[in-house]
Amino acid sequence: MKLLLERYHAFRQSVLSANKEFYQNLVLGQEPETMLITCSDSRICPESMFGYRPGEVFVLRNAGNIVPSYGQGTSGGEVATIEYAVAVLKIKHIVVCGHTGCGAMKALLDPDSVTTLPAVAEWLRSAENTRRVVMESNPNAEMKELVSVVARENALCQLDNLRTHPAVASAVRQGNLNLHAWVYKLEDHVVEAYNPASGQFEQVMAEEPASV
Ligand SMILES: [Zn+2]
Repeated sequence: MKLLLERYHAFRQSVLSANKEFYQNLVLGQEPETMLITCSDSRICPESMFGYRPGEVFVLRNAGNIVPSYGQGTSGGEVATIEYAVAVLKIKHIVVCGHTGCGAMKALLDPDSVTTLPAVAEWLRSAENTRRVVMESNPNAEMKELVSVVARENALCQLDNLRTHPAVASAVRQGNLNLHAWVYKLEDHVVEAYNPASGQFEQVMAEEPASV
């Protein structure tokens, strides 16, 4: 906590005082073009990685960057956040960005590890599609191999879940919204994006990757 307070005071003294007009204008509203759905994991620090400023990216974070399908009982916060982003803010891109070494994904593949965590177990049921895809596509694989592919499969499966949301389905159909599946590799800090043309995850380049 002490670290946060020290950084906050440093922020006020340096960044805020040097950019007064920019920060004052934030009270006027927000017009972010991109929504980022990523994991709560503390090692994922998107503001640092992508260098975005306040007002530029609408962010939703949870354990495992999971998007419950529309109408699911446990999905209140996520559904409302996505609906607002698409229907009100008119977001143009939604990026689901998973990461390697994700604790939620490991638990998804090993449900016995969360038997004493009923809320986590319930939450992970929203990613049952990911678990089935990974297990059934790799029937003879060991856990280590499954863990290596689950982040990518999950990012794609969560795009499938996103499309069940009426606001998302409508905006995509009208050509106003693009969906992207990304994975951040903690091992080498490379961000990969799914390329529908090749059917592979490829390292993101400066130009905008194709949407799914
Ligand atoms: Zn994670």
